[in-house]
Amino acid sequence: MKFYVSVDMEGIGGIAYREQIMRGEIYYQEARQLLTEETNAVVEALVEAGATEIVVKDAHALGLNFLYDRLHSAASYVLGPLKLPNRFPGIDSSFDGALLIGYHAMAGTEGAILDHSWSYYDIYGLELNGNPIGEIGFEALLFGLRDVPVIFVSGDDKACAEARCQLGTTFTYETKKALGRHSGVLKAPKRVCSEIGEAVKEAVRGRTTCKPYTLPGPYEMKIDYTSANLAEAHVYNESDTFRTGGRTRVIRDDDLLRLLTRTFM
Ligand SMILES: [Zn+2]
Repeated sequence: MKFYVSVDMEGIGGIAYREQIMRGEIYYQEARQLLTEETNAVVEALVEAGATEIVVKDAHALGLNFLYDRLHSAASYVLGPLKLPNRFPGIDSSFDGALLIGYHAMAGTEGAILDHSWSYYDIYGLELNGNPIGEIGFEALLFGLRDVPVIFVSGDDKACAEARCQLGTTFTYETKKALGRHSGVLKAPKRVCSEIGEAVKEAVRGRTTCKPYTLPGPYEMKIDYTSANLAEAHVYNESDTFRTGGRTRVIRDDDLLRLLTRTFM
């Protein structure tokens, strides 16, 4: 059995502040330890569940967040700021499932810890074919394009609710109950590390109930930026890329991967 694990940082147990997730900030180093230990607990659970190959992607910011000398030896690790269309190198239909660890709710989610969609500064919100989409849905579509289901999502209760609502049958584990952007009731990281393994194993057992996340075309992405300046910075050709307002850019495409890639170009 092969699994692809994408690890973000905002939804990791014990994390609720910008100062924990940004390189150079005062709590970043200890947050890296939380990130690494929770990731190791997930890898260990996958090994115990019978995984024969595990690829872990460091998916937060520049992709250089783990404490590398402490990582579980059973997985291989993808580092660096990889962009679409090659965000998950090596992914193909031979993988049995994908896991999103430490994820967060989309930008604008009420009462969610560190909610955003790709950028804290630039993006107010994204809509794909008329429905709001955040990073959980976006990543699930990337895996779905390779016929790989997302079988497990962890993060705060808002991220888990978003995953269940958008992806349907995905298994989830709540690392904390969010009360606001920087507040919540957090489980002790040691408890998270001991509980998340059982939740992952349950997801592996139930993985065949999870279907790859797909969406029929044609596709339209609406991007609301935080300022008109950001919307102006793109090239428009009227037929498949145009503005519908000062801050709003729309992209149309028949090819989903190309559309998702163009969202950041
Ligand atoms: Zn992140």
